[in-house]
Amino acid sequence: MQHSAVPEAEQGREALRFASQAGFVSKPKTLKAEDSPQAVACSPEADLLRHEIIRAGRKLWERQYVDGNGGNISVRIGSRYVLCTPTMVSKGDLEPDDICLSDLEGNILAGDRLRTSELLLHLEIYKSNPRACAVMHCHPPYATAFAVTGATPPNGLITEYEIFIGPAAVAPYETPGTQAFAETVRPFVEDHNTILLTNHGIVCWADTVTHAEWLVEIFETCCKTYLLARQIGQPLSLIPDSKIKEILALKQRMGLPDARLAGCSEKPVAPRGKDAADLERLVEQVVARLEERD
Ligand SMILES: [Zn+2]
Repeated sequence: MQHSAVPEAEQGREALRFASQAGFVSKPKTLKAEDSPQAVACSPEADLLRHEIIRAGRKLWERQYVDGNGGNISVRIGSRYVLCTPTMVSKGDLEPDDICLSDLEGNILAGDRLRTSELLLHLEIYKSNPRACAVMHCHPPYATAFAVTGATPPNGLITEYEIFIGPAAVAPYETPGTQAFAETVRPFVEDHNTILLTNHGIVCWADTVTHAEWLVEIFETCCKTYLLARQIGQPLSLIPDSKIKEILALKQRMGLPDARLAGCSEKPVAPRGKDAADLERLVEQVVARLEERD
């Protein structure tokens, strides 16, 4: 798992792994299933994950994706636990001791602070999708504007959105912090890594906290860009269907979730010949972007 001490060059390689990794899955290396909660909470893995959560929390706050004590972050640790942010702490002010260890039922096993009531939402995602290893919930203004309308930004316009997210889902409104609220996302978490919570905000899952934060950034930027483009007053230029198929083939190769892949009985087949060369170029462009070479 990536953490705050990873240097820039290593972050580039981490980005490359993100792009090529199948299934959004990464697991702690040394923890054992029989480890006690205290042993897990005091492990080097827990230290790294706490710092990754703190770093991501600061990014959320600095980007104004959270307000007051809003938003929450969690990550799986071992097969039976999660580390999560507490209630009533700004995501810009998190300290290592603030991060709680919980079981998958929401019982706090280590840490002095109360967990967020919205941990139930995170736990529902972990229980519904084993590929989800980190969950992030926040209230970015442009994405939340869409959540207020119950609509998602359209697909076919912005490559980053197509590649890393695909169609976002919209979960119906429920009172935050309740089990009923948590269960609103259940039908969507298998095929959508980004879900709008009606009248509330968004939730994203990924293999790491860092990558979940990237999804939040990508989605918020997409929402903002779409709204700006609409104001220009010119027709929007759609990515051609044939190129969307290339992106879907690319996503299938990367193991990235996309509801369009799950929904079609005929999965996109990786192209051959010239089209395959084009796809390779697309992969190279995506990787270059991730490595910040372009
Ligand atoms: Zn919220």
